[in-house]
Amino acid sequence: MNLNKLFPRLSIRAKLGIAFALVALVPLAAVAAITTRVTIARLRDAARSSLEREVSTARSDAEQSLGRVEQDVVFLADAFLRAALGAGTPPPLGQAIAIHEFLDHAPFLFRVKTIAEDGTQLFAASGSDTAGEDQSSGDYYVWRARSLAPTERLLMPVEVRGTDAVSGQGRPVPAVAVIVPVRDSAGRFLGAVVGEAYAATLFASLEQVAPSFGVTTTGLVDDQQRFLYHSRQKRNWESLLGIGMDSALVGHLGSGRFLEGVPFRTDDLLVSAERIRLGSSGGTPLTLFRAVPLTEINAPVREFLAWVVATGGALLAAVLGIALVAARQLTSPIYQLRDAASRLTRGQQPPTITIATNDELEDLASDFGQMATALIGQRRALEQTVTDRTRELQQTHAELADVLAHSADAIVGLDPAGRIRVWNRGAEALFGYRSDEVGGGDPDLLLRDSTRDDRTERSFVRRELTQKGAVIDFKTERRTKSGTMIPVSVTQTPLRDDDGRLLGTSLIFRDTSLQTTLEQHMRRSERLGAMSVMAAGLAHELNNPLAIIGNRIECMEVELRELDQPALVRDLSVLRDHATRITRLTQDLLRFAREPSEQLEALPLHRVANRVVQLIERTLAGRNVRITLGGDPAARVFGADHALETVCLNLVLNAADAMPAGGPIALEVERRGDDVTLTVTDRGTGVPPDLKERVFESFFTTKGHKGTGLGLSLCRSIVERHGGRIWVEDDHPCGSRFVVSLPHYQDANG
Ligand code: ADP
Repeated sequence: MNLNKLFPRLSIRAKLGIAFALVALVPLAAVAAITTRVTIARLRDAARSSLEREVSTARSDAEQSLGRVEQDVVFLADAFLRAALGAGTPPPLGQAIAIHEFLDHAPFLFRVKTIAEDGTQLFAASGSDTAGEDQSSGDYYVWRARSLAPTERLLMPVEVRGTDAVSGQGRPVPAVAVIVPVRDSAGRFLGAVVGEAYAATLFASLEQVAPSFGVTTTGLVDDQQRFLYHSRQKRNWESLLGIGMDSALVGHLGSGRFLEGVPFRTDDLLVSAERIRLGSSGGTPLTLFRAVPLTEINAPVREFLAWVVATGGALLAAVLGIALVAARQLTSPIYQLRDAASRLTRGQQPPTITIATNDELEDLASDFGQMATALIGQRRALEQTVTDRTRELQQTHAELADVLAHSADAIVGLDPAGRIRVWNRGAEALFGYRSDEVGGGDPDLLLRDSTRDDRTERSFVRRELTQKGAVIDFKTERRTKSGTMIPVSVTQTPLRDDDGRLLGTSLIFRDTSLQTTLEQHMRRSERLGAMSVMAAGLAHELNNPLAIIGNRIECMEVELRELDQPALVRDLSVLRDHATRITRLTQDLLRFAREPSEQLEALPLHRVANRVVQLIERTLAGRNVRITLGGDPAARVFGADHALETVCLNLVLNAADAMPAGGPIALEVERRGDDVTLTVTDRGTGVPPDLKERVFESFFTTKGHKGTGLGLSLCRSIVERHGGRIWVEDDHPCGSRFVVSLPHYQDANG
């Protein structure tokens, strides 16, 4: 059993102190307890035996006194009074004087009387200082004496009238009467000789017994429970009668129910008693007792106990002090070691330990010192290594962070729960979200809405991760903050530690818009290449018929002018203009097919647009289409007049086609920064959003066999050749707006 667990935490010093104290105190306490017990028993025994002794001494003193009184009365009776009583007279004067003198010197006897057979007192003599007359008890004495045998004597407690000297005049006082019967030679009863002794005098020796106790009560009780003597109220018979002693005890003593001399206890007294026979008479014995209050008996015990407590306390304090000093001595090296260990733990240099106990503790201190030195050395080496490694790591980390931050690719790191933890600048640039907007968020915010595509993509990604452990360069789309979808390639790699625990996932997104555009360009170039070959052939085939048509129109014009047919001449001129345009178109086609060598010049775009309007206005008016031209007439561009005219014409014709029931077409030429723009706006069908790019593809047409799908493709080719751009916008509430943007031409004069 571990005793330490039974108590709350205690310091080793306290434990040692307690152990030392226990080791010293337990035997000490045991010895003290036994000694105290024995001493108390001895003290009590001593008290009891001293009480026994005292009572025994008192008894023998009392018996001696009684014997002496009996002897004195018998002597007086035999020497003087028996003869006088036989004669029925008082003794002669000489004898009477001798009796008086005897009584003067008798130690206890104070009176002697002769009483005749009829109870009359014939003679009475008293000691000189105890004179007093008492004739009242003659009959009683004679009555008692009559029943006695001739040699028998009766000693009995009586009450006699006291004298001043003893108890004050006339007061009854306790006394012992010695009755000697007197008979003649024939045995006839003649009377009695009676001697009286005051109990107070008779038993005065009881006081002289040196009491071993401060407070005692010594008493003499007859069988009628009357006191003949009481040590505290010995001279006052009245008070003796009223002694407030425990009546039960007195009854007990009077009845003689006790073991003589053996002390017994009442509630508060220790009592020892013995029976005293009244001389040689056969009368009822008296009971002599001595009572000591238990407090008196216990006083030495209390004193002893007080001494034991005081001494024990002093001893305890001394032992505890010594135990603490010893514990301190023993534990001080341990505390030193502990302090040094604690400093070592905190990384401080421990102080030099000076333990010179010349035992294992000293060895331990020396071992500890060596260990501390070794530990400090190792720690320094470790710290140096950690510092070096940390520096290297910081450098690597900085490099990686730099790579990560400045990577053109969007790099996104996810924690094991799939939440965004890293969001580099590439990701900010690509998706438009700032790092603090998406940190801790779900990367699904980059997905399309929950469409079938996404589900397919997810299952593909899962399969790839299971089979190959990563998804490499997966082409898909992601949503940007503005809501537009951008084409991206995704590389997804789970990051695991050596135990295979998932640490996170890295996602690398690469913007593939440019690649897609290039691919589209490439496809268009391929198609344009094919078309160029076709166009070249077509233009070649058209050139001759067109030349013939032109030639014929000229001939017909000459002839009709001669015939004066101006209306027909006008129609022919329109035909000629269109034929000329077709010729130009074929030439454009040829230019489109070959790398053209156009005549470039600075020209106002407004003039080009105006020429187109003039050319086509009338034709379109028939289709209920009205054309307006506005804007800056001076804004110039550097380009080929015919080519730009083709662009403008195509856009106007398309606008007219988009309004089958007619409507307005607005042309506007204006400066926008460093560019000059031509916008062609109609109120037609408009271009659906998903076709805004496709309308510029070669051969894309919605006009069935009426369309070639080459117009806008040619326009874009021409515009891009001029370093410009062309696009289509919605024009609210309906219709479309085609915008051609060309670099503004600025000569040296501005
Ligand atoms: P084509 O006119 O022969 O069809 P284009 O390349 O000129 O070929 O035009 C391609 C397609 O672009 C047209 O078929 C038409 O659907 C669409 N388009 C061009 N201009 C407009 C416009 N102003 N409004 C509506 N749709 C247009």
